[in-house]
Parts: sequence; structure tokens; C-alpha cells
Amino acid sequence: MSLIVQKFGGSSVANPERIRNVARRVVETKRKGHQLVVVVSALGDTTDELIDLASQITDRPSEREMDMLLSTGEQVSVALLAMAIQELGHAAISFTGPQVGILTDQAHTKARIVDINTDRIQQALRKGSIAIVAGFQGQTPDQEITTLGRGGSDLTAVALAKALRAKVCEIYTDVDGVYTADPRLVEDAKKLDLISYDEMLELASLGAQVMQARSVEVGKKFDVPILVRSSLNHSSGTLITKEVKSMENVLIRGVAVNNNEAKITIFGVPDRPGVASRIFKIIADQNVNVDMIIQNKTKTKTTDLSFTVFKTDLKRTLATIGKAVRAVKAKGFECDESIAKVSIVGVGMRSHSGVASKMFGALAAKKINIDMISTSEIKISCVIAKKSGRDAVRVLHREFGLGKA
Ligand code: ASP
Ligand code: MG
Repeated sequence: MSLIVQKFGGSSVANPERIRNVARRVVETKRKGHQLVVVVSALGDTTDELIDLASQITDRPSEREMDMLLSTGEQVSVALLAMAIQELGHAAISFTGPQVGILTDQAHTKARIVDINTDRIQQALRKGSIAIVAGFQGQTPDQEITTLGRGGSDLTAVALAKALRAKVCEIYTDVDGVYTADPRLVEDAKKLDLISYDEMLELASLGAQVMQARSVEVGKKFDVPILVRSSLNHSSGTLITKEVKSMENVLIRGVAVNNNEAKITIFGVPDRPGVASRIFKIIADQNVNVDMIIQNKTKTKTTDLSFTVFKTDLKRTLATIGKAVRAVKAKGFECDESIAKVSIVGVGMRSHSGVASKMFGALAAKKINIDMISTSEIKISCVIAKKSGRDAVRVLHREFGLGKA
């Protein structure tokens, strides 16, 4: 008998019919003789709706009260799922995060899990019950309720799998697994059977939107096997796991495109030591995360400097960029919101050469202009015009032979 953690996302429990479907899935696993801990998200779009409600009361809600509010969503789903399982004649008991000892730091709305006391869950399991745990929430040492950031139920599930030494953490969602590209953009995108934590992390942060990035980081750190699969069918899903040598035989695992960034260019930046440091210090002080940065030495005494930020940070960036321009005596700046970042990801890049030139060649053949380039060991990203995003994904998907044969 092994212990399995299963997590069901908001769309999998969007209405009573789907909750009954989840209950049947859970009971199926239980009947195979496994011990089961089930983590659930709030029903459908509940979290968004709660955020919207708050915004009708105030523009600046206290973060503590936001956590009080948002944590109610998951409390509804655990109770309903427990009832649905009991209705099928099986023992189940629901718990909030605080009830099962999910201890976090004090960072309201984006708390980190510090420790999990699993006694209460173990007790329930010993009695033969299915333990249903509210995702996305925990409590501080002084018993304040916290939430773990959007998509945080994934984190609850992976952290519980680690704490309970589960055999696997299964993430149930409304897609069949992780794909070589977004199937809505590329018709012949293929479901992957296997992907490494690092590849998944790159794809998650690139906007593949299958799993919360932090949960994958925790999975990697503690080597928790994560299986992403559909709650609507029995397809085998995608296993996220540690890298094995044979993964390098595949050059590129996936292609992603992201429209969530904007590009800022500062013109006529004096070319002397300390300038970049001053610009990015002023921006960092506004809590803005900068992604790509490009600067190039020219023969003149000034250079242009471009960087990208997430659109969610754009307002704050624009509010402070004038100050940075004045501080270094640059000539001015420009902002471009109609960009896309297209990226190819694969651990095979480590041991193969010519990947970048192949990528650039494919884009050139489609007459797609490259604005910025950045690379990591297992990823190459290009900033291009937003209108070319879809074409770029398709041509790269084909170029690297990712489609169905
Ligand atoms: N309900 C929360 C959210 O929508 C947590 C989750 O779904 O994982 O972000
Ligand atoms: Mg959700």
C-alpha cells in the first residue's frame, strides 16, 4: 500500500457534477488500496470573484484581510468534496490548511511554507479515511491565516507529498498533461510523457500555465515525482521528474510564447561605470522584476539600453523611469508593449551545438525580426513583434521536429 497525494484544480471542481466526478476518481484510487491525501482549489473562478468583491470595497485592501477572504474559497471545496465522497460510501474528512499544521512565514498573500506537522493527516489515514486538505493556505506561528500566492494549491500538494513521503504527487487539471507547445496555437502539438524539473520550470515561467512555478521548484528540491494529468479522462499524463541522461537525446522539449512583457529602451545612456547600476537600483526599489537586459558598447560615448518587465509591473516602472533617465543624464526612453517572447527549451541543448543558429534561421525564413535574445543553459528566448508570436511558435515547433510524425 502506498500513499498518494492528488490535487484537483478549480476547473476540476467548478460545479456539483464535477465535484461528484472528482469524488469518483478519488474513490477509484482508494479502491486500489492506496492511502490518499487530496488537495483541492477553490471552485471555478471563485478566487477571482473574491478579489473582485474586495475591489468593490477598496482599492487598497489590507493583505491580512485578503487572506481571510481568499482562504474561504478552498474551505468550501474541501467540505463539498468530503460530502461527495461520503455519499459514495467511503470515509473522508476535510481540513483547512491551519488544521493540518501547514505553518508559513508572515508574508500575507504570498507566504512560504516553513513546516508541516502531519500528525492530524496521519491519524485520519490510519483510520482509513481519505484526507481532504484545502490548498493555497496555511497559518503563521501566531495563528494568522495566510495564502501562498496564485496557483498555490499546487504548492500545498507538492509540499504535502514531500512531508508525507508520498510515492507520487498527482496534479489533476483540465488538460491531458504538458505539451510541446500550446495546443491552441499549434494543432499538432504533442503531449509529453516525461519532462525534467528544470525544463518544466522554464516552461512554467514562460507561461505554459500548467503548474505554479514555485511548486515545481519545491518538487525539484526534494525530488518529488509530479504527475500532471486530466481529471476528465484516463490519459496517462506527463511525469515531471529529475533529469536522466537519456533526456539529452531530445534536442528541444517544447516551445513557448509569452505576451506578458513590455520592452523599455533608454536612449543615449552615457558609457561609463556605475550607470547601469544606478538605473536598475532605481527600478528595483519599486519592486519591479526585470527579465531580459541588452546593452552594447558602441564607438560613440553613449549607448542604448533595453530591458523587459512584466506588464503587471509596467505602471510602476513607467512611474519611476524618468527619474532613472535624469539620474544618469540619458536622452530619453521609449516603451513598447506589443512584443512577444518566444522560447525553446530542452536539456539536450547542453550537449548539442547549432541550436541557436537553427532557431534564428527558422525565424529568418519566416521574415520574423529578432529584437532581443537571451539564453540560459537549457533555453533560448527571442523578443519579436507580438503579431508574429503565433507564427514563430509554429515555425519553431516544425523546425525542431516536435509535431506528430
Ligand atoms: N484558488 C487559488 C487561485 O486561484 C489557488 C489555486 O487555484 O491553486 O489562485
Ligand atoms: Mg484557481
